[in-house]
Amino acid sequence: MTIRPDAAAAAADIASGLLIDGEWTRAESTFDVLDPATGTVIAAVADAGVEQGLAALDSISRAAPAWAHTASRERAEILRRAFDAVISQREDFARLISAEMGKPLSESRAEVDYGAEFLRWYSEEAVRPEGEYRRSPDGGSRLLVARRPVGPCLLITPWNFPLAMATRKIGAALAAGCTAIIKPAAQTPLSTIRLAQVLVEVGLPDGALNVITTTTAGKVSTALLADGRIRKISFTGSTGVGRVLISQCGQHVVRPSMELGGNAPFIVDADADVWRAVDGAMLAKMRNMGEACTAANRFLVHRSVAPVFSSLLSERMAALKVGHGLDPETQVGPVIDEAARTGLAELIEDAVSRGAKVTTGGRAIDGPGTFFEPTVVTDVPTDSRMFGEEIFGPIAGITVFDDLDEAVHLANDTEYGLAAYLYSGNVERGLRTAERLDFGMVGLNRAIVSNAAAPFGGIKQSGLGREGGREGINDYLDLQYVAIDA
Ligand code: NAP
Repeated sequence: MTIRPDAAAAAADIASGLLIDGEWTRAESTFDVLDPATGTVIAAVADAGVEQGLAALDSISRAAPAWAHTASRERAEILRRAFDAVISQREDFARLISAEMGKPLSESRAEVDYGAEFLRWYSEEAVRPEGEYRRSPDGGSRLLVARRPVGPCLLITPWNFPLAMATRKIGAALAAGCTAIIKPAAQTPLSTIRLAQVLVEVGLPDGALNVITTTTAGKVSTALLADGRIRKISFTGSTGVGRVLISQCGQHVVRPSMELGGNAPFIVDADADVWRAVDGAMLAKMRNMGEACTAANRFLVHRSVAPVFSSLLSERMAALKVGHGLDPETQVGPVIDEAARTGLAELIEDAVSRGAKVTTGGRAIDGPGTFFEPTVVTDVPTDSRMFGEEIFGPIAGITVFDDLDEAVHLANDTEYGLAAYLYSGNVERGLRTAERLDFGMVGLNRAIVSNAAAPFGGIKQSGLGREGGREGINDYLDLQYVAIDA
């Protein structure tokens, strides 16, 4: 095993305790955080149990009324100061993200900018809550419609964007006037802990945000949702865990926001600019080593352009430099763990057994760390696992179609509905086709849909609710209407 002192150094100043009521509190035990590129331990953090989870809940419940009544300008200024602080520490955050998650530094820097933007966006939205004054149609009364914070929230995030998934939730919750507990993924808790340190430093009151790190996520969240004081949960992660949490919300009718899995089609029509489509494919597939819920999962390519698209994509994928995220030349880091890497090999084996061909890559890379070769597979049959499941890794599978109706049918034939991509030479036809795609987000001749100003989210089994945009804050606000006899 190669020890990377720079990875350990990136994690050096991170608090190892739980943030409860403004204090970094120790737990009886800790768990290790690993550098996935070497398998070495870079930090140990507190392993909270139900008792600490409930202490965090006591704290956010106590803090909730005062935070809800804090002037929105004040809440906004705290978020704005946090934005400034994160941006001024861009390099430290980026190194931390690469150390705990493995992505290349250039992508970690982009995540810091994207993640910080939610703090700025919500600092701007905090002071613009929507309200309305209406007259009753019968003329007998006035209707005042206002929004108020839903109350204490539970926020649960995944490992793939350790900073941005946290800011997207924390920014919206705090802007709306809600207090919250955040539980980051056990594999990547450090960026969230550092973010909480920043929020404390810029003046967030005690108890407005608590951080719980744990290896028993299910046990802790079950206890929190059974308690009755949590009024909203916002979860980003797999559809399977999302389903469990939605059912647990039933006990106390808790409002769920769910950002779940995807199986994004990437359609390249006959008249598309193939070179532009390949540039887009590299981004939509390889950002985050393919470990993104919005990652292109099924390349559906018109037969007339499939040979050139496949060969250009294979060339570009084969040329990528795989390595440690902290090495400046690295373009592709490791996948998150051995289980993920084994799963990728199995997907390839399944597709090949059904007639698919590997044109580049296809194997795990020997040595320390969980690296996998950037891979292109052509002739992927529609009954293969790779076509039906979320790949979540650096594998591009290509399936050929003959007419656009067939491509739209194949694209929609999934339980997921998060993101879709369409490359077309005709914007009018492209727009009409985009409207037929059953997905919450569509990239038309564009490979990145994430934007703090846009309503991010899916339909079908990809989720409930939206994050970002004007819509994002509303997930944390209840409507109240006051009838006035006037
Ligand atoms: P995951 O296994 O569902 O875990 C996500 C989070 O939930 C982690 O913090 C995890 O904690 C926690 N968790 C696990 N089991 C739980 C339970 N029973 N109750 C409460 N919390 C529980 O997902 P993942 O593997 O980390 O992330 C990959 C998935 O996230 C993919 O499906 C991807 O598409 C999806 N994702 C969606 C979006 C979106 O915006 N739609 C964005 C990013 C990722 P531990 O770490 O301790 O297990």
